[in-house]
Amino acid sequence: MNWLFPHKCIACSGEVDEQSTLCARCFTEITFIDYPICRVCGRMFESQESYDQDEVCDNCAKTQPHFDMARSLMQHNSCSRRVVMRIKKATDYSVVKICAERIHMRYPRLFDNIDYSVPVPSHWTRLIRRGNNPPDIIALKLADVSGIEYRRLLKRVRRTEYQKDKSAAERRINIEGAFVCSCDNSVIVGKNVLVVDDVMTTGITLNECAKVLKAAGAVTVNCATITSTRQSYRGAK
Ligand SMILES: [Zn+2]
Ligand SMILES: [Zn+2]
Repeated sequence: MNWLFPHKCIACSGEVDEQSTLCARCFTEITFIDYPICRVCGRMFESQESYDQDEVCDNCAKTQPHFDMARSLMQHNSCSRRVVMRIKKATDYSVVKICAERIHMRYPRLFDNIDYSVPVPSHWTRLIRRGNNPPDIIALKLADVSGIEYRRLLKRVRRTEYQKDKSAAERRINIEGAFVCSCDNSVIVGKNVLVVDDVMTTGITLNECAKVLKAAGAVTVNCATITSTRQSYRGAK
């Protein structure tokens, strides 16, 4: 298989040995998300003190998300951003394959009884400009490695402004009503769904997708992303 997938670092595409997915330098720069994490949003707690597996961060305790469980592979930083950029460019599918395998291995419970792997959709005007939708590629690969069905259950009916410079409240208003189900509710009723995106920032996009799917009758909605930008906090007074 070596000639098919030459051994390259998934972040900088530098050469690596057979067993490695990251070169030595990128390995020190990337933080794979590790316990302790919030049981719901999967973000790492900022302090490493002992905790129990069912612990929920202050954010999720305050406002329970519509999704049941979200998990990311890496903490978002300049190095893991390059991994996401390489998936976006989609010139080398070995990167997304490695990430999907890692997510599947690391979080087996995320895939428990899941029926569909569903990408967060892009608006068609953005698809034309960009050519591909990274969540599509990741959702396809996650379906592949876990043996679940890839299915586009959602579509974006409203083009949203970029979320980057918006406050949490502005983001929520911006995304509200942006998604609808692209199929008959009978396809979704009683099903368990995994929603897939490239990056989780505030979680508002994933939450909106979960809201729409649950309203259509989904029982469980889990979420998977490559990177996550934030940390969890607990015990705020
Ligand atoms: Zn590297
Ligand atoms: Zn949380």
